[in-house]
Amino acid sequence: MPGLIERYQSRLPFADGDPVISLEEGSTPLVFAPRLSERVGVEVWLKIEGANPTGSFKDRGMTCAVSAAVRDGAQAVICASTGNTAASLAAYAARAGIRGVVIVPEGKIAMGKLAQALMHGARVIALHGNFDRALQLVRELSATHPIALVNSVNEFRVEGQKTAAFEIAEELDEQLDALCIPVGNAGNITAYWRGFNELGMRPRMFGFQAAGAAPLVHGHPIEQPETVASAIRIGNPARWEQAMDAMTSSGGSVNAVSDEQILDAYRFLAAQEGVFCEPASAASVAGLIAHGAGEAQRVACVLTGHGLKDPDTALQQVGAVIPCEPELSAIERAVMS
Ligand SMILES: *Cc1c(COP(=O)(O)O)cnc(C)c1O
Repeated sequence: MPGLIERYQSRLPFADGDPVISLEEGSTPLVFAPRLSERVGVEVWLKIEGANPTGSFKDRGMTCAVSAAVRDGAQAVICASTGNTAASLAAYAARAGIRGVVIVPEGKIAMGKLAQALMHGARVIALHGNFDRALQLVRELSATHPIALVNSVNEFRVEGQKTAAFEIAEELDEQLDALCIPVGNAGNITAYWRGFNELGMRPRMFGFQAAGAAPLVHGHPIEQPETVASAIRIGNPARWEQAMDAMTSSGGSVNAVSDEQILDAYRFLAAQEGVFCEPASAASVAGLIAHGAGEAQRVACVLTGHGLKDPDTALQQVGAVIPCEPELSAIERAVMS
């Protein structure tokens, strides 16, 4: 498949001949989930965004943001990140041959994401502070220096990310009643709603936040957001109003799910559906299980990132490996018992 800018150029703010920085992102699988469907009593599809080149949906926005930055002559791109934006920025900056700089909350990002950002050659700065502070600082820095800000406050990010809605619409022949999606900085739910609107579709938008990082649910910013789902550990979403508008005007809602519910959905998806997503992604399914999706019969859950991003959390959730002597009797016991 071609990358997103090529695939959807007529609906994206790019003209023929513009530079395209792509890793052939997008066109991710939409997989029917039989066991989950049975559990919740509606038809559920999983949008597997972990199948993007760097393992998260952030690549959809990044191909657009970095292509636009290159078109505008940027020599460097910067973002604040809970991890996946950093990994994606680093890869697309490497691809473009420009400098990448990422600011992450110190000690709070999953191991795989850190490895990606460093391997792709970005400058990785660990801030003694949380994501919200990091975003505030990069906004100020990019306003006074020749360095393009590619957080989802960047319009090109939202434009790129809306293509996921197009893909779901195409695969389901526009027959979709509801979308369940994790909400952190609220760029993605904003993007999906825009995408559906451009097609004249109005699925109910159900956003889910982690209980310890649920500013939209409480109606005020959270000073010290906490959750196992590090990708949505955000206390003051940049696209607050737009996210609320998406949920209210579609007849959806925003709800919180506990870390326990998130981890339950995380294990369920891996063990029962064969789909390994990261904890933040499982918030969409945890929310569907806990809160339902209104009267919806056909539901898509967005699984935003790949499970391999965060091996530490995975290994804390499962049993140990079984040690074994290299003898037939021992292996027999180990396998058959
Ligand atoms: C970025 C991210 C989110 C949150 O998306 P927002 O656009 O910030 O709401 C959710 N899950 C994963 C895996 C992410 O990387």
